[in-house]
Amino acid sequence: MCIFCKIASGEIPAELLHSDDQVLAFRDLAPQAPTHILIIPRVHCENVDELAEQHPQTLSRIFLVAAQLAKSEGLSGHRTVFNTGESAGQSVFHAHLHLLGGRPLAWPPG
Ligand code: AMP
Repeated sequence: MCIFCKIASGEIPAELLHSDDQVLAFRDLAPQAPTHILIIPRVHCENVDELAEQHPQTLSRIFLVAAQLAKSEGLSGHRTVFNTGESAGQSVFHAHLHLLGGRPLAWPPG
């Protein structure tokens, strides 16, 4: 089982901020901003491309939860990112949306 499936099943602890039948959200272990939250589908998909094709409603729900969390974290602006593939920085191959905020975010990203 992959590490995020283990978090979804409760086998590995995480600082959960949201949990429902489709999606959960928890704080990133190595935060890159004052707010750095990961929002993941419970279903295992390797990346967002697979998620979009197989579970579009879950993908939509992920963005809805991100918007709710951005509000509850009091962010004045935020960035949402899916890294897809090693060359784009993906290191965990279970789709996850990064929600970042709480500091100025430069553009373009590195
Ligand atoms: P990515 O590089 O886009 O695949 O993002 C993976 C993210 O998962 C990284 O930001 C890691 O810090 C984070 N991460 C890895 N393991 C855990 C964990 N057990 N709990 C919380 N975040 C994690």
